[in-house]
Amino acid sequence: MSDQQDPELQRAKQAAADADRALDAATRGCTFADEVSSVADRQVKLAEVGAELTRARSRGWVWGPDLADTHARLLAAAPGLVDQLRRESGDATQRVRGRIEACRARLSRTPVSSANRSDLEAIEEEAEAVKATVEQEAQRLDALAKPFVEPFDRLKKDVGEAHEHLDRFDEARFQLAPGEHPFVTGECAWQDAPGGVVNGFLYLTDKRIRFEQKETIKTKKFLFFTASSEDKHECLIDEPIGNIAASDDSTKGLVFKDQLVTIQWQNTRLKKSVFDINSGESAKLWDTWIEELRSGQIAHRMAGGVAVPAPDHGMPVDAPTRCTACDANLDAPVRGMTVLVCRYCGQRHDLRFA
Ligand SMILES: [Zn+2]
Repeated sequence: MSDQQDPELQRAKQAAADADRALDAATRGCTFADEVSSVADRQVKLAEVGAELTRARSRGWVWGPDLADTHARLLAAAPGLVDQLRRESGDATQRVRGRIEACRARLSRTPVSSANRSDLEAIEEEAEAVKATVEQEAQRLDALAKPFVEPFDRLKKDVGEAHEHLDRFDEARFQLAPGEHPFVTGECAWQDAPGGVVNGFLYLTDKRIRFEQKETIKTKKFLFFTASSEDKHECLIDEPIGNIAASDDSTKGLVFKDQLVTIQWQNTRLKKSVFDINSGESAKLWDTWIEELRSGQIAHRMAGGVAVPAPDHGMPVDAPTRCTACDANLDAPVRGMTVLVCRYCGQRHDLRFA
């Protein structure tokens, strides 16, 4: 009878192969090296993340009230947690290694034959049980590491994104006003720009909203070859956040949803602008940021000591009511406005903030 025609032998071979695979997996997993290094590797990087946070603060990043606390807490927790993981993973290795070796020895000394079919199936069952135990121990160790791993990853991401936003503000055409705090940036398409869609970036600070066109326009084409192109980089919208009357978010499309933010303007030539956010954040999050800026509720996102959270944040104080040049009545300033211009004579009045 050939191998293929003996079902008992086939099952014996299958059980031996499955047992071998399960024992290999258990052997690889039972040092729990990944679980220990998930914390130990991050512990090594904590100093670097802390330095990047300090650098972001020195660049004017006032956001993230809990970043420094999180960093300090992780720094304090890391040594004890690494010790605990090393100890507990060592204990877990002790508990399972004997079982793995015993099962491996049984498998080695049991010839793969139809007569040993039920023995091999019992070995396979034990091998799978040891493998499951290793997985449970790994999950338990992961659960111990999680309260460190998750905040670390969030902190690292937040600090990285802070620099990304700050870099974009540095590369922008416009200048920040003194005391203006850069907040977020987003790659987007201004859908209803005069003359058609314009690609670029939205910039939010605690006082203003801006849009800069940033795209390369192909100006001459010859068959498949672009003969010349032009870099367009220009600030097209620059408004105090008080000129936003309302903002709204919506999504469009069945599978890949466009993230649309619609802004209704007031006191300005713009009426309504729709932006399709392409940076990965949801339109809902952008809408939340804009609404918080507009209503003065943004302060809770600011770090203590960097700025004093206050609901009147971004509101000019002691604004003049009469023009210093022509004595006409001046309009009341809106949130985020840094200069009040007389609508009759054009005289500029610098505004102060609380
Ligand atoms: Zn005037």
